[in-house]
Order: sequence, then structure tokens, then C-alpha cells
Amino acid sequence: MKKLVKGLQRFRSETFAANKELFERLSTNQSPEVLFITCSDSRIYPNLITSAEPGELFILRNAGNIVPPYGTASGGEAATIEYAVEALGVKDVIICGHTNCGAMKGLLFGKDLHESMPSVKTWLQYAETTKRLVLDKYPNETDPGTLINIAVQENVLLQLVHLQTHPAIASAISRSKISLHGWVFKIDAGDIFAFDADFGQFRPLTEHAKCASTGRLYLSEGSTL
Ligand SMILES: [Zn+2]
Repeated sequence: MKKLVKGLQRFRSETFAANKELFERLSTNQSPEVLFITCSDSRIYPNLITSAEPGELFILRNAGNIVPPYGTASGGEAATIEYAVEALGVKDVIICGHTNCGAMKGLLFGKDLHESMPSVKTWLQYAETTKRLVLDKYPNETDPGTLINIAVQENVLLQLVHLQTHPAIASAISRSKISLHGWVFKIDAGDIFAFDADFGQFRPLTEHAKCASTGRLYLSEGSTL
């Protein structure tokens, strides 16, 4: 905790002081163009990996970057999505998973979750289709790390499908007001892989600018991570 307090002091004397005008402008209004949905994992730092400034990303985080289908959950996800689209008018929604995701590990291998983490087990039911897809489609894959990273990719696609059950999202898509994107952050390389619907794969974002997808349920060409 001491480290955080010292960090706050440094932020005020250095970063805030150097960006006073930006924070003054942001104090009364925000107009982010992107809703960034990602995992709660401490290694994912949306503003750092996209070089985005304060005010540019509207961020929704939870374990496993999960979007419950509309009407199935009473958590804050639906409200956050609705507000981003209707009140803020975001133009892009990114669902960003990451390699070595603990939620995906729990989904695939957490047999004892119901005893020690019942809330996590209940939450991961919104990714149950991911588990089924991975286990049925890759029956010969035995390496746990590879299976987890396949699940990470499949889960991003599944959650993109769930996202489209939200009325505000469906309506905005139908009017070409919004684009959906599926990303995976590869932690050890610092790379973003984006789903490319033309290839049915996640590909390095730097190789192609056009990566928008309205979502699909599964990888057609397997893992690329
Ligand atoms: Zn995670």
C-alpha cells in the first residue's frame, strides 16, 4: 500500500502537473470512442498497450473478459455496455483476452472450483461453450498451456457473439454505427493479435489494419498464438 501512496504523490507532482490542461478538460466531460472489454488480470494495462490517454478508453473489466448474453445476468456488464453505446456513442468495441488467462485455466481445469470459489464457477458458466468447443475440437492437444491459449481465443469470439445479443449493440451494428473487434494480448511478446474474419484466425494487429468482425463462434483455422 505504501508503494501506491508514493505512486500517487509522484503522479500528482509529475504526470498530473504535466497534463493539467487535459485533466481540466476531462473534469467536466468525456467522449471516449472505444469501449474496451478485458480481463481483470493485473498484467493487462489497456492504456499502456494502446498508448491511449485518459478519456480515450471506456473500460469494462471482469474475470475472463466475459459478456453475459443480454437478460441472463444482473451484474454491471449490460449497464456499462448500454451506457457506452447510447450515452457516449462509442464507435468501436474491443473484447481483449490475453495469453495464460487464469479464468480460462479455471474453466478448463478447475474441477474443484465449486468448493473454494463458487462465485467464479458460476461466473464461468458464461464461457461454458468455450470449454466445450476447445475440448471437442482439439481432442489430441494435451499441452495445458496450448489448450488455455486456444480457449482464450475461442472465448473472445464467443463473447463477441454474446455482445451482439445486447439491444444497443445490435441496433448500432444494424445502422453501421459501431464495429466490433476481437483481440488477444500476448503478454510475453507485447503483441496484440486481432481476429480476422477473412482468415478465421487471430493475426498480428500490425500486419493488417482491417480487423473488424461482427463475431463468430469458433476459430476455423486453429490457434496462431
Ligand atoms: Zn484473464
